[in-house]
Amino acid sequence: METPYGKEKETTLQALTVASSLMRGIQNDLRQSIQKEDRTPVTVADYGSQAVICKILNDAFPEDSIVAEEDSTELSKPKHAEVLSRVTQYVNASFPSISSGEICQWIDLGSGDPSHRYWTLDPIDGTKGFLRGDQFAIALALIEGGTVRVGGLACPNIPLDTGGGKQIHGGLFLAIRGQGAIQSDLAGDSGRKIRVSDSDLPSRAILVESLEPAHSDHQLNIELMEKLGISRSSIRMDSQAKYAILARGEASLYVRIPSPQTPGYREKIWDHAAGSILVEEAGGRITDALGRTLDFTCGKTLEKNYGIIVTNGRLHRRVLDALGPLLP
Ligand code: AMP
Ligand code: MG
Repeated sequence: METPYGKEKETTLQALTVASSLMRGIQNDLRQSIQKEDRTPVTVADYGSQAVICKILNDAFPEDSIVAEEDSTELSKPKHAEVLSRVTQYVNASFPSISSGEICQWIDLGSGDPSHRYWTLDPIDGTKGFLRGDQFAIALALIEGGTVRVGGLACPNIPLDTGGGKQIHGGLFLAIRGQGAIQSDLAGDSGRKIRVSDSDLPSRAILVESLEPAHSDHQLNIELMEKLGISRSSIRMDSQAKYAILARGEASLYVRIPSPQTPGYREKIWDHAAGSILVEEAGGRITDALGRTLDFTCGKTLEKNYGIIVTNGRLHRRVLDALGPLLP
């Protein structure tokens, strides 16, 4: 009998592997980034990653819509012709003789609407981390009827033990609902199951949080750690790599409350869908700051949720209880 979601799993793996190999080529060629209208940077790598992933998904599942972070509006402007030609050059390494026009069309396959069944993609989550040479992730997930079914993260800079004391950089994380979570190298080899930590002592916990003070409330996390008796310093890290280290037991809580700079911020689906299933399938738990399930049925944002709380499961209730009185 075929394993449920077998084709989705293979396609996710293929998409993430192809996109991470494109990324390896680009890493030393970071000079060109474009400012989007919201003033956030977008790079040759974001566009290249989105183009190849959307193409691979669309070939395998032409009926599915794709909701991705980028589109080709800025990239197609004449003033960005040089950036587009770089994107084309990198994509051509995996897909020879594809024109710039076609690549823009592939990128725009990601402008679908969240429907009953859709994929959501962040072609580079943590662009700022990518530009700094720190952590970033390529994040892809399949959502059906509001439930994340499949999630994959490629984290090209994450340290990875491949056994026998050998450490490399670059890991791929994959979870299928009901089938557990696995970690492998970026080629999809040396796979093994991962689990969250089983510690239920808050004082021994390690908290992981965004590096960017504009993306979450660092001061509130300091107060929360004090209240829980956590003495070890937090790990600050960009992107959904935070979910990956929690899923493999290196941290046991991730707290993301909107920063005082942007108190009304609503989280984007592509920033949490893949990470959420990874942690759940590794035995952990995720809710918003009020203990509510994340609601992936409201479009591109988690409109009905406030903040994101991720734990190894055992600590969840205590973290929510300690957090409640600290919320603004
Ligand atoms: P991180 O690397 O965890 O800081 O998260 C990166 C993600 O933060 C990006 O993909 C953005 O979509 C998202 N983001 C942008 N602005 C904000 C904000 N004001 N608050 C929270 N997240 C944000
Ligand atoms: Mg992102």
